[in-house]
Parts: sequence; C-alpha cells; structure tokens
Amino acid sequence: MISQERVLRTPIPGPRSRELHARREAEVPRGFGVTLPIFVDRAEGAVLVDVDGNQLVDLGSGIAVTSVGASDPRVVERVREQAGRFTHTCFMVTEYAGFVDVAAALNRLTPGDHPKRTALFSTGAEAVENAVKIARSHTGRPAVVVFDHAYHGRTSLTMAMTAKHLPYKESFGPLSPEVHRVPTADPFRGPFFTAEAAFARFADVVRTQIGAGRVAAVVAEPVLGEGGFVVPAEGFLPRVAEFCAEHGIVFVADEVQTGLARTGRMFASEHEGLVPDLVCTAKALAGGLPLAAVTGRAEIMDAVHPGGLGGTYAGNPVACAAALGALQTIEEQDLAGRAARIERRVLPRLRALAAGVPAIGDVRGRGAMLAVEFVVPGTTEPAPEVAAAVARHCHAHGVLVLVCGTYGNVIRLLPPLVIDVDLLDDALGVLDEGIRKVAA
Ligand SMILES: *Cc1c(COP(=O)(O)O)cnc(C)c1O
Repeated sequence: MISQERVLRTPIPGPRSRELHARREAEVPRGFGVTLPIFVDRAEGAVLVDVDGNQLVDLGSGIAVTSVGASDPRVVERVREQAGRFTHTCFMVTEYAGFVDVAAALNRLTPGDHPKRTALFSTGAEAVENAVKIARSHTGRPAVVVFDHAYHGRTSLTMAMTAKHLPYKESFGPLSPEVHRVPTADPFRGPFFTAEAAFARFADVVRTQIGAGRVAAVVAEPVLGEGGFVVPAEGFLPRVAEFCAEHGIVFVADEVQTGLARTGRMFASEHEGLVPDLVCTAKALAGGLPLAAVTGRAEIMDAVHPGGLGGTYAGNPVACAAALGALQTIEEQDLAGRAARIERRVLPRLRALAAGVPAIGDVRGRGAMLAVEFVVPGTTEPAPEVAAAVARHCHAHGVLVLVCGTYGNVIRLLPPLVIDVDLLDDALGVLDEGIRKVAA
C-alpha cells in the first residue's frame, strides 16, 4: 500500500533519478521529450513513488490513461491471471474470448443503441488511422476533414491530421494527402467564437474547397486534447454531425483522450447528445496497457473486406484482460460521477483564482479534464513562459502537471478519477501557490 499523500525526501529530481537520466541520455534518442525527469519505482492511485523515495501527486495520469489509478487491483489481478494462461496468439490467427468481451462492452457503452461492431488495435493513432480506412472503404471517397488545434497522433496519416507543426510534423514530411483542416468554434480564442459562425465556415470550406461528395470522414475531438482542452461552443459539433448525415459523410469522434468517464460522462459526445458513426477509444481503455478501439455502426464497420483490418498485436489478450478490469472499475465505482465531482470541486476554485490573477485568460474543461490558460494580462496573447514556470513550481513541490495547447500556454489537469479529495486539495494548493507566485 502506498499512502495517498505527497512526500518529498529529496529535491525533484533526486540524485538517483538524475543518475538514471544521465544514463538514458546515452542510450535513448533525444527525440523523446520528458515532462519531469524522475524515474518511477512504484505507483498506486494518484501517487507516484520515485527511485529516491519521493511521493508525487499525479495530475496527469500518464496523459489521461490511468483513470482507474496507477495500479488498479482489478486490472493487476486480471493481467496476472491472463499472463499466466497465455500472452499472445494474434487474434487473426486463433481467437480468444477477451477480445470479444471488450468489443461487446464497447458496443454496449458507446452512444447510440444501433447495431455496432468494435475492432481492437494497440494505440490511439492506430484507432484513428483505422477509422479513416473504414470510412474510406464504406464511402469510396478520399478526403478527411479535421479541425484547428486537433491532435490525432504521430503516425504518417495522423500527424497530417494533427494541427500543430512543432514538434509533431517538423522534418517528417511529406505529409499524407487529402487531409483538410477547418476551424473549430473556440469560445476563447476564436476566430470563430460561436457555433453558428464556425459551422458556417466549416460548411463553406467543405462545399467550396473540398466538395462534400468527396469527403469520407470528419474527425473531431469532443473536447480538444493536446490542442488546449478547448470545449467547442455548444451546438457546433451537433451541427457538424447533422451536416455529415446529410452528405453521407462518416462522423468520427476521436474520444481517445475524452472517452471512458474522463469528462464526467462515459463519452464526451454524450454532453451534447452526439451519436457518432464511429468512436475511437484508447488511453483509459485498459488501465495502462496498450489497447485501442474503433466502435461504430455495423454497416460501416462491416464495409471493409475480410482481412482488411488487423495487426499482429491488435487486441492483445493481456491488454484485453486489463481493459475488462478497468471497465469493471469504471462502471462499478461510477468513475464518470467521480469525474463530475472533480469538476465541481476544482472548477470553482480555479475560477475564483482567475478572478484575482489577470495572467489567467481562461479556465475551462469538462469533468476531470480541466485547464488554465495563461496570457499577457489584458490580452489573449499566449504566455507560455508563465505556464512553464507554474509547471516547474508544481514539479519542484511534488505535483505532476502537464502543459498543452497550440501555444504551449495551458496547464492541464488530468488526475486519476479515483484520486482522494484531500490529496486533490493538497495538489491544488500547490498549483494555486505556484500561480500566485509566478503570475500575480
Ligand atoms: C493521445 C491521442 C491520440 C493518439 O494516441 P496514441 O495512443 O498516442 O497513438 C489520438 N487522439 C487523441 C485525441 C489523443 O489524445
């Protein structure tokens, strides 16, 4: 048992972590960045224990993955049991029940009660790529439409779908063709602030520049992830989905970061009553093991010819066992309800803080996916150096927060949904202190 409290025994990072980091630099390419160079020894709930014995509060969940906590007993138990029986067969060679059980669970949990199918993969990017393949196969059309500030992954196709140039695309071209970008409805930063204005622009670009009849899929994050936790203006995505239905376009919700209870509902699409044709999931799906899925309308999913989908590790049995444990925890412990409670506890506190700190331009998010955006006071000009300094303060005091946003000026909070209230309050105290010290 790891006590759910923050304990600092050395400066962060401590001497053992520094030693290991020096070794890493000699063995691992510098292309892998690192938010906080501590080496983790053990973890439980929302606490990471590093090799120097420090206990850090995890407000990142390994980027929205460990929603059920760092070593959920149901996940650990099922992984042990499955690994003891067999670790791999390749589902395309011989079958096993865990794959079908995860598919059935996602068919049941995703929005809409139409007939569905689920295909399993290993990573979020792979899920997004396969959603595009499926949509192209179903429609016979080439084009894919994505939004400003989008993040969909780092593979060749998904880096083209991702908006941000640095670090994701710089020097990695040529980019995959037939990826077209349209504005989102960004209530803080614009330039299209309302659902009406953004939708009008979206429809115009699709009609006049791409051709609605050439579009296979529109892929949208219901809350932007890496792009800065922007919640699109209410009504924007439902209108986009309606447009897709009118034009035979497959509407894909990339719920890789938002899905599985993170935003206070099982899927973020539910906040606006969206029923996507296809839903991509990954991150929180298997409590830390690599597993991803595309779930969607049976007639779309079944458009692909036999053998057209798959992957050696797609739906690995140990990852499927982990997912069944994670899904059990998510449902039985009502983690969506816990995410909503985290929002009710954190958002008012951040809003009150923002009222007295002019460097905070915006506070936003849904559930346990919350963000503070820093600006030059009185403007919307991004202040990434403030976000970085606040993050440094938090890290030095044993609270792991992540920075995101197209301009790198957003602190994002993604605590495990099982985090103790006292521990959350303690971590917020550190964040509060950091913001006051750096920005006030
Ligand atoms: C993280 C993420 C991805 C990519 O997932 P990987 O598992 O890193 O490939 C895709 N879409 C969204 C919205 C994400 O947050």
